[in-house]
Parts: sequence; structure tokens; C-alpha cells
Amino acid sequence: MNKMSVKDLKDLKGKNVLVRCDFNVPMKDGVITDENRIQGALPTIKYLLDAGARVTLCSHMGKPHSIFSAEVKLNKKDLKKVDAGETTKEVIIEKAKKDEPKKLTLAPVAKRLNELLGGKVVFATDVIGKDAKAKRDALKNGEAVLLENLRFHWEEEKKDEGFCKELAYNAEIYVNDAFGTAHRSHASTAAIVEYGIIKTAVCGFLIEKELEVMADTLENPKRPFVAILGGAKVADKLNVISNLLEKCDTLIIGGGMAYTFLKAKGYEVGTSLLDEEKIGYCKEMMVKAEKSGKELLLPIDTVVTDHFPEPIDEKIVVKTVPSNKIPADKMGMDIGEKTRKLYADKVASAKSVIWNGPMGVFENPTLAKGTIAVAQALADVYGKCTTIIGGGDSAAAVQQLGFADKVTHISTGGGASLELFEGKVLPGIACLNDKRSV
Ligand code: AMP
Repeated sequence: MNKMSVKDLKDLKGKNVLVRCDFNVPMKDGVITDENRIQGALPTIKYLLDAGARVTLCSHMGKPHSIFSAEVKLNKKDLKKVDAGETTKEVIIEKAKKDEPKKLTLAPVAKRLNELLGGKVVFATDVIGKDAKAKRDALKNGEAVLLENLRFHWEEEKKDEGFCKELAYNAEIYVNDAFGTAHRSHASTAAIVEYGIIKTAVCGFLIEKELEVMADTLENPKRPFVAILGGAKVADKLNVISNLLEKCDTLIIGGGMAYTFLKAKGYEVGTSLLDEEKIGYCKEMMVKAEKSGKELLLPIDTVVTDHFPEPIDEKIVVKTVPSNKIPADKMGMDIGEKTRKLYADKVASAKSVIWNGPMGVFENPTLAKGTIAVAQALADVYGKCTTIIGGGDSAAAVQQLGFADKVTHISTGGGASLELFEGKVLPGIACLNDKRSV
């Protein structure tokens, strides 16, 4: 990787360093329910503290309505409610003003960090206000302050230059370690460096590791290189499919997106998830694969049901049918047994595998067999093959199934890793200093 990392910095003692972390942890009633992201950020923070830096940590949490500004955004869910006449914008704003500072505060994260880092972390109750400045000024070498939720300011997402300057405050070094938001171009993720406000900009250990494993595998994979894509819709992963087809030797398709491919082959897909508008695109991809001598595998058999489970864990009756014989009144919900074996065999003979998206409606135990089979196949080649899970649902599935320590790398950023798989340059990484530039 040609970007500088914290390890490349010298003489950190007494330096003011601003670190963008991803502390967007799941919380219930003010209690952190999964602290993976906090743990993931610790190596970089510890390194800086041990080197005697004065560290200001910042992060977003959830999606507030930018409550401290005149510009209030409604999220999709709220907009739907307003459109349906269930509520009004004013009611939503009033409620947000009351609830969000309590619900989306980073205070519990600061408390936990302080426990994990031996009492070296304090919390600032604002981002660029009096408290933040006073606490940043008062830092001694080897101490840290966590600022309040960046997204309490609409300026964060709008890359406001004045906000960037205030956020930088006394920092002379910027460290980005928030891989989960590296695909976003916001004030704290990229603009603060792009505007030239902080000149020394490097990545932390978490981003370094994500890039080392993922970018390296995409650029110089050990072959055979197998890419497995699943999940709901073809439309969400158009560029991923196309880019991976160029890089890999075999592209395996599963999940809801498989039915648009099967339809493109001229098969009946019953009531399965179908992206009518993307049938042409799927045909194109099949031609692209054939022309370039790549293997594009689709399910050969399919687990079908009468309906989508409701509730999601409903005990549901299933049947397995060949993928070219899905009855008109049935819905494809998972890959069948023959496909599971076919896909597992491909993984068994691979030297690199990347995986994004479940093979079926894995939230339902009866429909999770395909996803489990792929997770198991990856676990079986552990140590012999580079295996990468690109965040999101497949990462959750692997964790739930207990295979997390049997894969080379589980990405901490679903959206960010998908953009890497698309071949995009992530703004939060592009803005950092190149190794040769310093
Ligand atoms: P994504 O966010 O695109 O990775 O999609 C994940 C979602 O795809 C999960 O919630 C799965 O339940 C869903 N999914 C996977 N297979 C199917 C399928 N055959 N039909 C409908 N949804 C599916």
C-alpha cells in the first residue's frame, strides 16, 4: 500500500493528533451491545498515546436529523411517514431535538474507551464548541478526548470548510482509521485534508489492514481467485459484478440476485426476487464472462417456498427444484444441495476467495443452509487460501455461525469494501499522504 500510516510518523510526543474513528456501535437504552468497532480502533489509539501524542478522537453515531442547525434532513423512513400523512416534518424535528442528543450521544463510547485505556480518555459534550476546545487545550501527552457525535452538525456531511477548520482546531496531524466511512466524502473523512487544513494525513492500523488484505487480493490475487456474490438485488451490485468479473477466475452468484441471471438465461423464476430492468445487464455479464474465458456460476438447484416468511423466522415448508424448473407459483429462497456442493468444491480448489452477500434468506434457519455451506467452505480452507468477507450481512452471518476466526479477514465496512470491490478509489483513503510524498 502506498499510503502513509501512523507507523511512518516520527516524534509524536506532544503533538496534537485528530483521529477519525468509526464508533458507530449498536446501542440499546444507552448500553453498547457490540463493541467490535471500539476494539478495532484500539491499536491505533494505544500506539498514539504510548508515543506521547495528545489525541482528539471523533466519530459519527447513527443518522441524526442534524438537529443543531437550520437545515434539517428527514431520513427515508420519516419521509414516507410524512408522505403518508401519518405525521408532519415539524413533529419529527421536535422529537429529534428532544431524543437524539440522548440517544445518539457518544458518551457511552467515551466511558468504555476510558475503561479500556486505563483512564486516559475524557468526553467533550460538543464537537467544536467551548467544551471541546477546553478539553483539547487541557490534554497532556498520552491523553485523549472523544468529541460528541460529528453528525449533530449538518456541516459534517456537507463538507463545510469553516466546520473543517474548527474541527481541526489545534491538530497538526490527521489519522483516518474509520474504514466503515472511508467511502464517504465528509468533513471529517476527507475534506479536512482536501482543503489543506491539516497537511500531514495518514491511515491508522485498521484501515492499513483492510487495504493490505483487500486491495492486495484484488490487485494481485493468488489464483484461482473465486468471488462469491449474493444478497438481495442485482441493481445494488452492478459495478461490483462487472469489476470482479475482470479480476477473478470464477464468479459465483447466489441469493436474490441469482434469479435475474436465471431469467436472463430464459428460465422461469416463479415469484422469486426479480430485477426486470437488469435482465439485459445480466445477459451482458454472461457474454462478458464467456468472451474473457471466465467462469460465471449460477445455482443449479433452488430451495423454493410458497411465500416469503412472515415473521422472518416462520417455520416454513420448503422444496428443492432444479433452477430451470422453478414452478410459476414458487419463490426461490436459497441455493439447493447440489449448488452448495458445487460452490464448496470451487472454494476448496481456490487460492483466494472474496465473499459479499448471503446465498439465501439466511435470517430464517430453514433458509440459511446455503449461506452456512459457503461459510463452512471458507472455514475448511483456512490457512491454505486467502479468504475475505466484505462486511455487511455475510460478515454478520459468519460471526453468528461462529466461523469468524476461520477466515483471513472480515471487513469492518460493508459499503466501503463493496466500493473497493467495484474498483473505486475511496475518498477517505485517496486524501491521505502517499508514502513517497514525505
Ligand atoms: P444485501 O444487503 O444486498 O447483501 O442483501 C441481504 C439480504 O438479501 C438479506 O436480508 C437476505 O434475506 C436477502 N436475500 C438473500 N437471498 C434472497 C432471496 N432468494 N430472496 C429474497 N431475499 C434474499
